[in-house]
Amino acid sequence: MQGWFITGGADPDQARTVRRVLFAMVAGGLAHTLVCWIAAQLDFFRGGSDVFTRLFLVIWGGHIGFILFTLLGFNRLCRDPSLTLPVIWWSTLVLLVSAYYTDQVRLCVMLLFFAILQTGVFRSRRRDLAWVGAFGVLAYLVIIALVAHWHPEAVDVTAELIQWAAFLMMTLAVVSLAGEIGMIRNKLAQRNRDLGEIVDRIQRLAVRDELTGLYNRRYAMERLTKIREMAGRGAFGVVVAYADLDHFKQINDTYGHGFGDEVLRLFARRAGELLSGRDFCARFGGEEFLIVLVKTDLEQARNVLEQLRRNLAAERFDDAPALRVTVSQGLADYTAGETLEDWLARADDALYRAKSQGRNRTVVAHRGRLDGTGDALPVPE
Ligand code: GH3
Ligand code: MG
Ligand code: MG
Repeated sequence: MQGWFITGGADPDQARTVRRVLFAMVAGGLAHTLVCWIAAQLDFFRGGSDVFTRLFLVIWGGHIGFILFTLLGFNRLCRDPSLTLPVIWWSTLVLLVSAYYTDQVRLCVMLLFFAILQTGVFRSRRRDLAWVGAFGVLAYLVIIALVAHWHPEAVDVTAELIQWAAFLMMTLAVVSLAGEIGMIRNKLAQRNRDLGEIVDRIQRLAVRDELTGLYNRRYAMERLTKIREMAGRGAFGVVVAYADLDHFKQINDTYGHGFGDEVLRLFARRAGELLSGRDFCARFGGEEFLIVLVKTDLEQARNVLEQLRRNLAAERFDDAPALRVTVSQGLADYTAGETLEDWLARADDALYRAKSQGRNRTVVAHRGRLDGTGDALPVPE
């Protein structure tokens, strides 16, 4: 319960509820008490100061109960922790009871009802406010009937009914205004949700390739630049690999572009299955991918990429039983002092060699940009 007291702690919703309940009970309660006290001074409060004192002791007991309930944080256990409707119902009830005793100035007391209703205009549903409004109007009528029955000498029924009719009209106006505001509020909320979705989508598109869901080239380069900086400080070893699907144009030409898209997605899935959380695969363009393996040496990286190549080659397709999808890969580990461009160029050279040596293979770049042949692995059966 620590931190709930008084301010609502770090929770801004609770702090707002505490402020609102305090305002409703203290400011609203004082205004109501003042109006009734003036009525009592003018001798309009039936029963005199005895009834007034007893009634307002009970009323303030309720007000303080609400305040304590909220300050201690019990409102958080309620379905609606803002307590908007309970406060409105309690205030309405209090108002009606006091209106029963204030004969000549009953309408003055009942006018406070509109102050109560307005507290719900922005926070309650139209239906809930309509119920409160209907209850207030009907209960006011019942009060007039009760007073006319028990204390006929105290009321001019015609005048009371005219005042009640005016009260009815004003209540209708306030409730329908609340409805309008509620509709605007719903529209705004919907628009905010739509905007939130659009922002999410834009953020996603800024870093992801739409077809495969992999990182796009721009974002991959940003990440790789940072990873290279850390690797340059000797934090860990990093390996990059270019992967390019073999004869992909033929796949498109033979089985259609849509099928080609499926193959690209399949590659993205298979790569994702093999990579650990800190590694990533990005789509660099067309059927070309960049794979980054962090905290890995060349041998481990080559094993992972070979596994990926073998898994892909083992895929069988219902719509294309004869098809074997193969990939050529060139990988290079980061050498201290090397620029990002040089590092990637070595991986690209290794890929070029994988292609020229017959495709469907993984070639490791040797250290230094132009130092030789690479390490071609045998083509599997
Ligand atoms: P290589 O083995 O030498 O890499 O040959 P390749 O046919 O894979 O390479 P090439 O660069 O000649 O063809 C790449 C093809 O990839 C051509 C292009 O139409 C296709 N492509 C590029 N982007 C997409 C895409 O988003 N979806 C599909 N289905 N095809 C694409
Ligand atoms: Mg290709
Ligand atoms: Mg290509």
